[in-house]
Amino acid sequence: MSVRVGVVGAGGRMGSEVCRAVAGDAGTELVAAVDPQSAGRTVGEVAGVAADVGGGVVVAGSLDALADAGAEVVVDFTVPDAIRANLPVYAEAGMHAVVGTTGLGGDDLADARRRFTRSNALIVPNFAIGAVLMIRFAELAAPWFDTAEIIELHHDRKVDAPSGTATHTAERMAAASGSWAADPTEKTVLPGARGGEGPAGIRVHSVRMRGMVAHQEVILGAEGQTLSIRHDSYDRTSFMPGVLLAVHRVGTTPGVTVGLDTLLGF
Ligand code: NAP
Repeated sequence: MSVRVGVVGAGGRMGSEVCRAVAGDAGTELVAAVDPQSAGRTVGEVAGVAADVGGGVVVAGSLDALADAGAEVVVDFTVPDAIRANLPVYAEAGMHAVVGTTGLGGDDLADARRRFTRSNALIVPNFAIGAVLMIRFAELAAPWFDTAEIIELHHDRKVDAPSGTATHTAERMAAASGSWAADPTEKTVLPGARGGEGPAGIRVHSVRMRGMVAHQEVILGAEGQTLSIRHDSYDRTSFMPGVLLAVHRVGTTPGVTVGLDTLLGF
């Protein structure tokens, strides 16, 4: 039986890609789409989905359309303010949530854990399976190096910084090692030159660049050697195998889970 999916942020770059992925997957059915700016247009018009696989679904302006269409799983790619308002609605309605929207913090996760009692949520800072591996490799490397910095690079329309992936990477590396060398900088001539200070003092640098999609490099250093771990998403389709995996597994992954790791077996 196919999973009934609603997509929130359906008119956005990621949301429209998700509409196409859900429409093209034999195990899922696109039953609802929400996006205030695109309301009234069809999914066929906003995402190029064929009529026989959900292209005729009319994009709604309100989340009520999800329950009305009997969505079992909602996929949300919106903006931080929207997802904060949307999560309680999904939990209240007993719908499973797959969240790609970044910018949620610890308080938001604690709130989600309190609310999702009847259904589950998978909150995934990065759906690219290669990126999940990059984070895991950085975590494994952390105890063997003294210094680490993260450079994340994204397209020029990304509104939050640093990326959720960068923050998550820094948190995982900080938890994996308690011994990091101190920052030697005594004088910062240009404010921000050393990036933002993340967990355990790991510096995070955010580049916003026209032409890019989503990229990250983790550089670790020790006496006489450095290790660079880099992942590049060249196209938004790179996120779709992870999104579909989450859609299929969220119903059997209890509570609120952050990241795809559990689903990948580590
Ligand atoms: P985008 O093109 O700006 O799309 C966001 C869409 O959400 C827009 O169409 C926006 O409509 C809509 N929206 C805003 N508020 C809404 C609400 N209350 N209800 C329904 N729809 C609403 O951005 P994007 O590039 O697709 O990225 C979306 C999010 O996904 C960002 O947080 C980004 O960081 C994240 N992301 C995550 C991953 C991952 O793997 N987890 C990968 C890529 C991106 P308006 O234009 O009218 O505001």
